[in-house]
Amino acid sequence: MKKACYIGGTWVETTEYAPLYAPYSGELIAEIPLADADTVEKAITAAQEAATVMRRMPAHKRASILENISILLNERLEEAAKIIASEAGKPIKTARGEVIRTIQTYKFAAEEAKRIHGETLPLDAAIGGEGRLAYTVREPLGVIGAITPFNFPMNLVAHKVGPAIAAGNTVVLKPASQTPLSAFFLAEIAEQAGLPAGALNVITGSGGKVGDLLVTDPRIKAITFTGSPAVGIDIRNRAGLKRVTLELGSNSAVIVDRDVNLEEVIPRCIFGAFAYSGQVCISVQRIYVVKELYDTFVEQFVAETRKLKGGDSLSDETDYSAMISPRETERALAWIEEAKQRGARVECGGETEGRVLRPTVLTGVPADAKVSCQEVFGPVVLINPVESVAEAIALVNDSRFGLQAGLYTNNLALALQAAEELHVGGVMINDVPTFRVDHMPYGGVKESGMGREGVKYAVEELTELKLVVIKR
Ligand code: NAP
Repeated sequence: MKKACYIGGTWVETTEYAPLYAPYSGELIAEIPLADADTVEKAITAAQEAATVMRRMPAHKRASILENISILLNERLEEAAKIIASEAGKPIKTARGEVIRTIQTYKFAAEEAKRIHGETLPLDAAIGGEGRLAYTVREPLGVIGAITPFNFPMNLVAHKVGPAIAAGNTVVLKPASQTPLSAFFLAEIAEQAGLPAGALNVITGSGGKVGDLLVTDPRIKAITFTGSPAVGIDIRNRAGLKRVTLELGSNSAVIVDRDVNLEEVIPRCIFGAFAYSGQVCISVQRIYVVKELYDTFVEQFVAETRKLKGGDSLSDETDYSAMISPRETERALAWIEEAKQRGARVECGGETEGRVLRPTVLTGVPADAKVSCQEVFGPVVLINPVESVAEAIALVNDSRFGLQAGLYTNNLALALQAAEELHVGGVMINDVPTFRVDHMPYGGVKESGMGREGVKYAVEELTELKLVVIKR
């Protein structure tokens, strides 16, 4: 029940602890250590001491450790899924999917570890560059500070720890306060997998306090952060010359053109909007449907949404469960109310059953209502009609955010136009913006962040390019 931080290969107790409650049942599930400045100092020192070991470790050894993590996680898949379901309130079916993805992410990291290389350069292309051999190498940065959110507590940690270790770095990981158990579970597995002491350190405690110490410590060479835009922007402002990767939020949209197959489109849009109660950074929040198809789309979408089952995150029957906290549920309800006051219609949902907010479909939502222009991060989606795909593209782009966007169409010219004009990190033609596999480049523009993850791309973010020139 009482947990400890994982520092330098040992479990370290702290003086203060905080209770951790399951989002669905409200039961106490653990007591979580609250790291103080001394604990953070120990973790950074341990990571720095291990940096030389990791820097010198051959690629095949880093690869085999990551491969071992992937194998061990596969052996304990069900246990891992239950940890996620319990601490994050993620329905167990969805939690299993996250673990399967995490296993793959470590496998991709193992493969990537073997292909980190530079290139040779023809310096004689420049006058005065003759007689030199030039090549680049990618070197590890050293100690990486990784700060992660609650919503994918295993796979988003894997997207930081995997590439960092693949590149020969060490990590101080600060997971979200609501989901530390997944991170402690990883520490246990990583040790069994043969990761040297100090290469991964897990410290928990308040984001403001622990996070700030990581962001401002000069021994930490990069901060890789996934979380809300407000915190991400604040980190960027305080990080000085550190490398910073920011994977932030969005109000992602999908556009539905005429003549598409609704039997395929609607289940995907429902998955995009309500998987893990919309607490996904690329959750479908706005759906723009061309007017010819609008009424049919809304009718079918609402009918299918009503079939989803709410309940205990640990039950196999459950499609959606409680949001991460009662406070977040209250916020989502207040935003729904604001939209209603502004003329929106609640087609279904808009109310809670126990701790669970029902999937909510809104129509007629003004563009400046919070559920449209801010990130809802809850089970709320709006469906509005548009005259044309061109109008919808303008609406998608009229946002502070730009993570991913989707367009369903059979018109190649429109698909190419959308690919060119949508101002986002990734355009999904004939799919929802929620599509992600773990080796594709992933990240946003505008307030959705900077830098890319997707293992190979994260390795680039977490390495330094060095040039070597040898004069004959
Ligand atoms: P959050 O509140 O921003 O927290 C994220 C992490 O930052 C947590 O570990 C948190 O610690 C820590 N933190 C809080 N304040 C901090 C500070 N001042 N300095 C340093 N660290 C600090 O986000 P969340 O509610 O967990 O996650 C939801 C957000 O993440 C959404 O906006 C979502 O879109 C975004 N997200 C983005 C992606 C992506 O890849 N683009 C993926 C998933 C989620 P505590 O938990 O202790 O506060």
